[in-house]
Amino acid sequence: MTNFFLTEKVKALLPAYQQFLKEEVYPIELAAVTKPFRQSLPLLKNIRAKAKEKKLFAPHLSEKEGGVGLSLVEFAQVSELLGTSPIGHYLFNCQAPDIGNMELLHGYASDELKKIFLHPLMHGDIRSCFAMTEPEMAGSNPVQLSTTAVREGNEYVINGHKWFTSSADGASFTIVMAVTDATNSNPYLRASMILVPIPTKGYELIRNIPVMGEAGEDYMSHGEVRFTNCRVPVTHLIGEEGKGFALAQARLGPGRIHHCMRWIGICERVFDLMCQRAATRKLDEHRMLGHQQIIQSWIAECRAEINAARLMVLQTAHEMELSGAKAVKDEVAAIKFYVANVLANVMDKAVQVHGGLGITDDTLLSFWYRHERAARIYDGPDEVHKTSLAKSILKKYGMSFK
Ligand SMILES: Cc1cc2nc3c(=O)[nH]c(=O)nc-3n(C[C@H](O)[C@H](O)[C@H](O)COP(=O)(O)OP(=O)(O)OC[C@H]3O[C@@H](n4cnc5c(N)ncnc54)[C@H](O)[C@@H]3O)c2cc1C
Repeated sequence: MTNFFLTEKVKALLPAYQQFLKEEVYPIELAAVTKPFRQSLPLLKNIRAKAKEKKLFAPHLSEKEGGVGLSLVEFAQVSELLGTSPIGHYLFNCQAPDIGNMELLHGYASDELKKIFLHPLMHGDIRSCFAMTEPEMAGSNPVQLSTTAVREGNEYVINGHKWFTSSADGASFTIVMAVTDATNSNPYLRASMILVPIPTKGYELIRNIPVMGEAGEDYMSHGEVRFTNCRVPVTHLIGEEGKGFALAQARLGPGRIHHCMRWIGICERVFDLMCQRAATRKLDEHRMLGHQQIIQSWIAECRAEINAARLMVLQTAHEMELSGAKAVKDEVAAIKFYVANVLANVMDKAVQVHGGLGITDDTLLSFWYRHERAARIYDGPDEVHKTSLAKSILKKYGMSFK
């Protein structure tokens, strides 16, 4: 099938990524995600070094910055491929939340912060995290924040409680979203983003939150963190004071393209496992699982859904490149919930086709099934995106909303 989004550059690169995944990543990925993550770090470091040697590392960064220099649409296609492994993005240093933090620091941090934090992050020498969501507040309404950053002389004093600060364990800094102007009449101008080095006195990682029976560690974890009179220099402000939500929006636009393409990569891998199983599992002497019409129906429907999802996301990425993230707000809302649901359906069908094997840790299915249920929740729950899209459509029919 013709891929209208395939540039010469990506056409040349995709086979190199494919080969690298086949030789270096697929053979070790299951072990890496089924044993404590830190045990695999030396091996993963080695593989990262090989990716650098082959000039495949950091596909989203410019060549000057040590990356591959891909556009958003080009990176989206590489991202799909990397998504076929649960450690794909990590190995090429384009994993969330670091990729979003790189974009933030690149665009809005001072030269000094860039030197200390961005450069080692881009080279894969350190990791970072992003602390916005709070246990006591509904994260789907992000203007509700109780964490504060009060200016005292040349310092911000930060107090607050956050959770789902992904990959906080082992991170070298966090970017925290905190209220700096609680009385501003515009709630979207109340918060700011501030970089907190780790360790800093007053910053504490309380725990890695157990998720579906697994607390994880290091990169593969979600932290609960607390800031208690945590002081950082005012120069650690990212962008302007009060512009935290504007920066969050800037971070989320391309971020949602990245997530969606990663999910499509998972879909492709899981689909492949499902088809292999259907074609080889014998029901009796004459029939494979894939001879059953209901299994055929699942396979056909999943194929159509994945194809549709990919075209939607690439089209949105293309429009975003042409007109900016704001212009494709509705399309981004649509891909976020649509692709998350395609992923949920494809994973569920693949588990079902595998029967008991599907829920064991002998394949990657159960890892993704546990971890990616969250796709319908993070980066904005489905319902919020659906409401936002529907309102935007209905406004064109004369309706108004408060
Ligand atoms: C795996 C994972 C990783 C994450 N990583 C990070 C991170 O690195 N940093 C960070 O700051 N946060 C992170 N988050 C937090 C994430 O952004 C929030 O979970 C999300 O915004 C939802 O907020 P909440 O959990 O407080 O749910 P709530 O706001 O309490 O919403 C609960 C449910 O209510 C429904 N709902 C909410 N609003 C509406 C509405 N307007 N209309 C209809 N229904 C609605 C939805 O079904 C929603 O799932 C992560 C979350 C997960 C699960």
